[in-house]
Amino acid sequence: MANVSLNALSKSYDDTPVLAGIDLEIANGEYLVLVGPSGCGKSTLLRCIAGLETISAGELSIGGKRMNDVAPQDRNIAMVFQSYALYPHMTVRRNLGFPLEIRKQSAADIASAVDSVAEILELDKLMDRFPGQLSGGQRQRVAMGRAMVRQPAVFLFDEPLSNLDASLRGHMRAELKRLHRRLGSTFVHVTHDQVEALTLADRIMVLNEGIVQQIGTPRELFDTPANTFVAQFIGSPTMNLLQRDDHTLGVRPSDIHLGQGDLTATVELVESLGAEALVHLDQMGTSMLAQVPEPVAIETGSTVQLRFGRTHRFDRTTGLRLPDSGAQ
Ligand code: ADP
Repeated sequence: MANVSLNALSKSYDDTPVLAGIDLEIANGEYLVLVGPSGCGKSTLLRCIAGLETISAGELSIGGKRMNDVAPQDRNIAMVFQSYALYPHMTVRRNLGFPLEIRKQSAADIASAVDSVAEILELDKLMDRFPGQLSGGQRQRVAMGRAMVRQPAVFLFDEPLSNLDASLRGHMRAELKRLHRRLGSTFVHVTHDQVEALTLADRIMVLNEGIVQQIGTPRELFDTPANTFVAQFIGSPTMNLLQRDDHTLGVRPSDIHLGQGDLTATVELVESLGAEALVHLDQMGTSMLAQVPEPVAIETGSTVQLRFGRTHRFDRTTGLRLPDSGAQ
């Protein structure tokens, strides 16, 4: 097991900066999720930790040892990718054991490591199948198992659930969380999906254009976003941002209460989602979205009273959170 430290880590391709001076301390056994829009530098950062990219400036250490110039295979890490390329001509058993086979471990050691991983991941009944005979979720479990057999100190996941359909993704999310608890290893997980980040992470780092926007627990990011970028990236549906005289006012759709209050708005559309409804509103030319529990008896085109619950205030120019944010 090991902690991971990034100290002013930067990465450029030729003259193009991709990561700008990243400082991050990942504790031993922590589940850290890196989240941000496509192209913001998440995979590059993970690949720098893995040793698949060179670091342009700054320092990376794992377990207290400087790793900048250490080869990937000597970093005591394992990486699981979105496209988990299993060897198609090898059985599940051989796929699982292969990382130990190439390290020339004894057959008995390999068998014992493979059996233990297969039990944890409930792969025992699938050991003689080939990858082509497995479902997407089973293949993903084999890929994780293959990362686990070496008992690395740090697991690096690059969008590991993106190729799965929605229901399987939910299932595998829960499996990953259970696996993390059971192994107690350090997990670093890259995703563009903020739901994945909120549900899995002990802490989340939000990245945009290679710059850290905020690092904190899911609760901290949701309750006190550091700027308008984090405010709109974390939470679904997206926070409403309303331009006021001297600041930007943020209101989550679930913090808009209808049927009471001294603001008046026109209902433009009601989208029913079963347990709740999304109500699109126009308040004196400003569009906003409210999320309310069903059943709602609100007609499109009607007028409603509304009030805001918790609100957030941001600087209009910099987008940074203003300190006196709170209930209005
Ligand atoms: P993310 O994982 O957040 O989608 P990436 O880390 O893959 O983003 O990419 C970050 C930026 O770095 C992108 O603008 C991408 O085009 C650029 N980039 C990634 N790899 C290379 C490379 N080998 N050469 C040049 N630019 C690259």
